[in-house]
Amino acid sequence: MFESVLELLFPAACAGCGCAGAVLCAACTPPAGAAARLQIGWLDVRAAGRYDGALRTAILAYKRGRRDAGNVLAALLAERVAADLGAEAVLVPVPTATKRLRERGFDQGARLAQQLGSRANRPVLLALRRRDSDAQRGRSRIERLHARGHFACVAPELVAGVRIVLVDDVVTTGSTLLDCAAALQECGAFVREAVVLAFA
Ligand SMILES: [Zn+2]
Repeated sequence: MFESVLELLFPAACAGCGCAGAVLCAACTPPAGAAARLQIGWLDVRAAGRYDGALRTAILAYKRGRRDAGNVLAALLAERVAADLGAEAVLVPVPTATKRLRERGFDQGARLAQQLGSRANRPVLLALRRRDSDAQRGRSRIERLHARGHFACVAPELVAGVRIVLVDDVVTTGSTLLDCAAALQECGAFVREAVVLAFA
């Protein structure tokens, strides 16, 4: 809420260099050539750029709650990847950790996917949740063993047979993406692609 007030008062300082006039100025916007594509396990992952310079600064600003930075990042991602999203694809965001969610007051991952979805005209499904340690504590040992990954599919009937594209902010090793893909595939989804803001 405080951040929203700040955005109203100071609407457009570049998240990369701080100059006035744009949330991410032309000089700080990563060039189209910075877009990258990487194979992680069985996933074809596309990113708007590398996690450094102004793109990194803008992502960090978004994570700290600057929603205007998120709008610009979503637009950048849409510009770079929308054309490659299949007509059948449904976007599923990697869920944000609940602790970070509480600190920030909004789910930046879900918001990014929704903005990308509206720009690329693709539906968004919040089909995953994090298995938090609180939930694990109440389970029996057998139940914990069954819950191998860190994510669970919460909408099995909606993802079965559906082609899903995962959406996340920054990818490092890719283990989170693979974990999410595995949870969806166990429910019958077809997951071969992910789009992210940046590769670390
Ligand atoms: Zn700038």
